Amino acid sequence: MYPPNFDYVAPTSLDEALAALAGAENTKVLSGGMSLIPLMKMRFVRPTTVVDISRIPGLDDVTDDGDHITIGAMVRHATTASHPLVQEHASALAEAANGTADLLVRNRGTTCGSLALNAVAADQPGAALALNATMHAASVRGTREIAAADFFLDAMTSALAPDEILTKITIPKGGVSTYRKLGRRGGSSDYPIAAAAVWVDVSDGSVSDARIALNGVSSTPYLAVGSAEALVGSDGSADAIASAASHATDGVNVLEDLYATVAFRTHLAGVYVRRALEDVLA
Ligand SMILES: Cc1cc2nc3c(=O)[nH]c(=O)nc-3n(C[C@H](O)[C@H](O)[C@H](O)COP(=O)(O)OP(=O)(O)OC[C@H]3O[C@@H](n4cnc5c(N)ncnc54)[C@H](O)[C@@H]3O)c2cc1C
Repeated sequence: MYPPNFDYVAPTSLDEALAALAGAENTKVLSGGMSLIPLMKMRFVRPTTVVDISRIPGLDDVTDDGDHITIGAMVRHATTASHPLVQEHASALAEAANGTADLLVRNRGTTCGSLALNAVAADQPGAALALNATMHAASVRGTREIAAADFFLDAMTSALAPDEILTKITIPKGGVSTYRKLGRRGGSSDYPIAAAAVWVDVSDGSVSDARIALNGVSSTPYLAVGSAEALVGSDGSADAIASAASHATDGVNVLEDLYATVAFRTHLAGVYVRRALEDVLA
């Protein structure tokens, strides 16, 4: 099916793109197009103007910036998955990007597009939460930073205003992280039925800090605060991991759909928190 008619602009500077977004009534940013184009073809979204940001220079870099790494708006999933800086400092995100869709989609879709869209069960939002990423948004009003914990509001809803571009994300260095999921077709390159992204900092044989995020389990990714509390201060033993896993869905409205009942998905959430923690604390 073809989408309804729309105006297409392809600015070559960020200022031009922000002006185009500010000036139009019903406008959408286009980055990789891997979700926006299908949504337009199915007529779930009907923008009158599409602002393609792929020709703006300087948005497709991953950089080392001292105490953090930066991932630009046009960095594709494939680059996030394979870039040495992401693999070294944010391995949960590299693994989540590597398990996102198939190679064709990974070569076009962008990490920032996936975060901005926040589709139900999307892989990379959970990793961004566990890694305590900061989202950098720009509009004609200026720039602002949004903590990952405040960014993913609900299914297909982020804290971005309609006229804002997510220009980059930054991820603090330190700790170790991983991402484990059960894909809908059993493998990893598909939306997860349940997934866990975990980040831990270990010093003197005990877990000094931890963040455990789940995606695919509820309508939006979340931090399992009770799981992290059960782990911090422990020696990371099997008992501590089991205790953390048992809190994976505390206070959460667990999804039921064609892939899993509430009881099965609740079980899976605990299993994937346990597996991710076993890997990262091994
Ligand atoms: C066959 C198929 C399989 C898939 N499987 C998976 C999967 O297993 N796991 C998974 O997580 N995802 C999956 N996806 C989704 C894919 O990862 C998309 O690439 C991603 O959701 C959106 O990224 P994009 O760059 O293509 O964004 P686009 O499609 O260009 O945009 C998506 C939305 O985000 C907005 N947006 C995009 N970039 C920005 C920005 N920088 N600032 C502000 N707003 C922005 C757009 O306006 C739009 O609303 C799949 C997609 C397809 C087609």
